Amino acid sequence: MAVLPSKTGSTQIELGIAEDSGERRPADRALEALAALTRNASFGGDQFSARCVEFLAATYRVAYALVATFPDESRTSLETRAFCADGEVVAPLRYELSGTPCADVLIHDRVFIPSDACSAYPKNDWMAQLAIQGYYGAALTAPSGERLGVLVVADRQPIVKDDWIHPVLGLYADRIALELGRQRVDGELQLAASVFRHSPQGIMITGPDHRIRKVNDAFRSITGWQEKEVVGRLDRMLSAGRDDPGLPDDIQAELDSDGIWVGELWSRRRDGEVYPEQRTIVAVYDPDRRLLHYVSMFSDISAEKFATERIHRLAHYDATTELPNRVLLQDRLLHAINHATRGSGRLALLFLDLDGFKLINDTFGHSAGDEVLRKVGVRLLSRLRKADVVARIGGDEFAIVLSDIGQASDVQAICDQLLEVITEPYELGGQENRVTTSIGIALFPDDGSDVQSLLKHADAAMYQAKESGKNRYAFYEPEMNRKAEERLQLTRQLRDAMEQEQFSLCYQPQYDLASGRLVGVEALTRWRDSSGAMVPPTRFITVAEDSGLIVNLGEWVLREACQHAQHWREQGLDFGRLSVNVSGRQFQDEGLQAVVAAALESSGLPADRLELEITESWVMEGPYRAEKQMRLLNDMGVNLVIDDFGVAHSSMAYLKRFPVQKLKINGSFIRDIPADADDAAIVSAIIAMGHSLGLRVVAEGVETTEQSAFLRGTGCDEVQGFLFGHPVPGDELNVLLLYGPNLASS
Ligand code: C2E
Ligand code: MG
Ligand code: MG
Repeated sequence: MAVLPSKTGSTQIELGIAEDSGERRPADRALEALAALTRNASFGGDQFSARCVEFLAATYRVAYALVATFPDESRTSLETRAFCADGEVVAPLRYELSGTPCADVLIHDRVFIPSDACSAYPKNDWMAQLAIQGYYGAALTAPSGERLGVLVVADRQPIVKDDWIHPVLGLYADRIALELGRQRVDGELQLAASVFRHSPQGIMITGPDHRIRKVNDAFRSITGWQEKEVVGRLDRMLSAGRDDPGLPDDIQAELDSDGIWVGELWSRRRDGEVYPEQRTIVAVYDPDRRLLHYVSMFSDISAEKFATERIHRLAHYDATTELPNRVLLQDRLLHAINHATRGSGRLALLFLDLDGFKLINDTFGHSAGDEVLRKVGVRLLSRLRKADVVARIGGDEFAIVLSDIGQASDVQAICDQLLEVITEPYELGGQENRVTTSIGIALFPDDGSDVQSLLKHADAAMYQAKESGKNRYAFYEPEMNRKAEERLQLTRQLRDAMEQEQFSLCYQPQYDLASGRLVGVEALTRWRDSSGAMVPPTRFITVAEDSGLIVNLGEWVLREACQHAQHWREQGLDFGRLSVNVSGRQFQDEGLQAVVAAALESSGLPADRLELEITESWVMEGPYRAEKQMRLLNDMGVNLVIDDFGVAHSSMAYLKRFPVQKLKINGSFIRDIPADADDAAIVSAIIAMGHSLGLRVVAEGVETTEQSAFLRGTGCDEVQGFLFGHPVPGDELNVLLLYGPNLASS
């Protein structure tokens, strides 16, 4: 662009130094002016350049004088910092270097073209437009040798070379360069100071002697120390642990070799709190490699550290009990296995499952349940060594790794203690509650040599402990593994069985012992699996309970049995009452009433013709909850029977409160009477107790006339067993209902 730049207003240049009579040579005046400018501290930076060009233009009566510097790092153009044209100040303007005499000035340091300068640079529009004849340019060079720009004096007339040109303009150029250099350093210093002040990172500068020299605002806010409190003191005052001066050896060594160290450190705040920081330390040297100081930049990373730790905790620990979770257990178990392998040692993996915990949760709420889990964790830990691992691996499941155990009897002793400590009462809602646990044990290397097989085998053993009556432990045996596989397969088959209608019902008659009248039928479920084999309920009911399938199955049984019973009624067949078994799992379900109501309603069977059997052991696992459910069902008009009575040692206190109508003595007590005196005594006692509570008593599994006669003698009310009738499909029962037999014949 070849236009003369616009002028900044019409401000006439006001010279800082008065013109004089002209008697003295311009060179002298120029030098005096330069000296005066230099003395006057108020003319800093660009003002200094402006004054110089104004003065040179005026003194030497030239049309143009300017100072231009590189505006950017490309160094392909120049920008005027001060420009005086025909006595007026011109606004800054930028021009390309190439093809200008300024380019030559930067190369040759000085360029003097006394006349016809525009012809010498024909490609440069500027030269022509400003009609420049005489040109003198001096490079502005920093003390470091770096070129900063140019000082130019030019005129529309030729410039006569006299003795002023080189020395005077040379001096001006040097002085201007010095000023520009200083201005640049000032700018950089200001920038550095601003960064120092506003940095969110704490910055501390220490001497080679590790004494603190300077700190910034962030240092104060992070450490709590004021600058005046720390300056002059050794930097170790901030360290979390060290007392020796200087940096830890490894850091110092890295600084000495690389000049920089980056890492994490623990530091201490003014109030004593220890915190983690991310720190960068730089060693600053002078050109002769003398250490000047260390600059430390640091940020407080406690928040990040906390978050990382939290994530780690969440991933590896159970939030309720703060015990390791399944992930960490596997890790620790692997570690223990490796350790035991190296030392040819032995270890035990214990799997614990609380008995009846769901009931606690349902009865007292989840926070009470959590409280029990926490207490269980604490109690388990209290009986173990520090090296043992206790983990919570599921709802009410815990696992323990016992390392360095001698023989199996050592594990037995520990398990005895664990059972004992878990059984101690837990106070919930002002009441004392008891929880027990079943423990499965797998030994390394005896029962498995890797994490997965030990976990699997301890689980199978735990299942066995549950099966054999809970509140006990069981050592793994290979047989259990087979059983576990079988259970898994059964569960799969059971799922399909419902859809494929593989279930059916059988009914077994119950008689009044005194009159011989048929007083009821018990519905018993039968399963013919896809291969056509009959699977006994003793095998599939527990699997259905464990997998939760019992809820659906139980609902089907209720509907089906009620329909059948109503069908008999409609045919005028009198079966007395219909008994249906209800599993503990169903009994705990809040939906049970609705299911019962629906079965009654859809079939039309009156509620008082239905009797629900719930086993004594289930009732006793959660007597409060059971009582509540019983009342609700009773209120509907449904009768209740405690099945398999005698095995779970019910307390009289509970029995008195339960709204039940009948006790059914477990068949195992009937089997050996009257020969077995103990059983005979138990049966008599149950009957007497039942009667004293106003309950009817039924005996199940009656197979012989001797048993029947004994029961009659003790006053037992009702009987059920092969002696009187096997469980038969509904159709077969029709016949029985029509024609007898009845007890009178036996
Ligand atoms: P339970 O309720 O105590 O039923 C009595 C069991 O004794 C039945 O076995 C019956 O066939 C058998 N039994 C009857 N009389 C005699 C006898 O004189 N001698 C012998 N040794 N046994 C006799 P089953 O049908 O195999 O049922 C076993 C258990 O499975 C039942 O015991 C009950 O607890 C459960 N069960 C059966 N069906 C259902 C059901 O639909 N729901 C639930 N929750 N459980 C059921
Ligand atoms: Mg029963
Ligand atoms: Mg029974």
